[in-house]
Amino acid sequence: MIRSINPATGAEIARYEFNTAGEVDAALSAAVAAQARWREVPITERVRLLTRMAQVLRSNADRYARLITQEMGKPLAESIAEIEKCAWNCDFYAEKAPEFLADEPVASSASESLIAYDPLGVVLAIMPWNYPFWQFFRFAAPALAAGNGSVLKHANNVPACALACEEVLREAQAPAGLVRTLLIDAGDVAALIADERIAAVTLTGSTEVGAIVASQAGKALKKQVLELGGSDPFIVLADADVEQAAAMAVKARYVNVGQSCVNAKRFIVEQSVADRFADAFVAGVAGLKVGDPMEMDTRIGPMARANLRDTLHDQVERSITAGATLRCGGALANGPGFYYPPTVLDNVTPAAAAFTEETFGPVAAIIRAGDAEEAIRLANQSEYGLGAALWTRDLDLARRLTRRIEAGAVFVNGMVASDPRLPFGGIKRSGYGRELGYHGIREFTNVKTVWIG
Ligand code: NAP
Repeated sequence: MIRSINPATGAEIARYEFNTAGEVDAALSAAVAAQARWREVPITERVRLLTRMAQVLRSNADRYARLITQEMGKPLAESIAEIEKCAWNCDFYAEKAPEFLADEPVASSASESLIAYDPLGVVLAIMPWNYPFWQFFRFAAPALAAGNGSVLKHANNVPACALACEEVLREAQAPAGLVRTLLIDAGDVAALIADERIAAVTLTGSTEVGAIVASQAGKALKKQVLELGGSDPFIVLADADVEQAAAMAVKARYVNVGQSCVNAKRFIVEQSVADRFADAFVAGVAGLKVGDPMEMDTRIGPMARANLRDTLHDQVERSITAGATLRCGGALANGPGFYYPPTVLDNVTPAAAAFTEETFGPVAAIIRAGDAEEAIRLANQSEYGLGAALWTRDLDLARRLTRRIEAGAVFVNGMVASDPRLPFGGIKRSGYGRELGYHGIREFTNVKTVWIG
């Protein structure tokens, strides 16, 4: 039994039965059959499905956004933006997929040789609750355009969103069975990964689950893309526009109530401007409106689940014990729902949990660095390597430093955000493989060499 809980109140919204083993088996067989036909459809026709998906998303944006906010607590304005971003991604690949996957002639000893991009088959998508539509459509739009099918195992705190993802495909007239949502327990995923009808696996989720899924997929020798956790640095050098950096830092940390893999989490600031930055940052945080996520002007709603809030509070308390200074927040809220106040920790060092662990909620860690060299060293002193932001007015220096930062993306004088036009993914324990851009659409293809003598 899956229970959907409203994190703003703690009240149960609905209950869902798990799919039976027979239903899962039938869904897999149907997906394989549908994909075998789908791969024969020319890509110029396949992308029409994506255009219809974008239309369905846009025409139901309000209803879908409310589902997101009800099930995981994201402020409604951000839920609406999430649906629009999904539609943008579908439109982007509808336009670009034929170009990204076109045959590529290559000169060789053959009279004709080329690279073709064939689909892999049915991809198992294991997705998290934090962007319950975006995470799925970020993967699905390019994967379907490439000729694959998919079964989705979504996070079990967002079952209505999971079923709505399948509804989008149905309303967009996707071939029956090509994409199916399975309501199953996480413990049943291993058998799916091992099932010969699954060709490949994509997981967006925690590093811990990433290691489990990677070992299972590795044992079955199946291609994986892993989009895992992060502890992104936001580096502010002494010559930066400190006030602008602080204003952007507030957004970079607190969007999605701090529950994004690419939220800036560690603010590494050169000592000479650290007080100015910290004061401006704390003032910005004080201006964030905490409240009912269904109100359009709310910036901070509840966290998605009670256990996530407990973990975060424990990280804050351990960080203070390790010497961090509490500038604001830090106390568990009374009352219903899983609220946690926007919290800022200053003077954080590598001894603190807020430095070494991913903090998945509204908690910022300010770390003071002696100079730019130390700032880069501290930025790289992490097991994660997802995104990074760097603030400086010296763009020549910035270009050099971007190459030394261990991350899948570096944004200079901005905040890290995914964009369908640019590849997205991490290194180190943030995972491997890429989504988005032309790299993303090629992940679930067979890069086939064709050689004609
Ligand atoms: P999670 O606990 O790892 O769960 C992710 C998905 O994996 C859920 O569908 C979950 O199902 C499933 N799962 C859990 N245990 C499993 C197991 N043993 N075998 C197979 N599947 C299993 O992560 P989360 O708490 O939902 O999401 C937060 C994490 O995701 C953070 O670490 C965040 O940084 C990361 N994330 C990364 C990106 C990225 O693009 N790099 C984007 C967003 C989030 P159940 O719900 O049934 O447990």
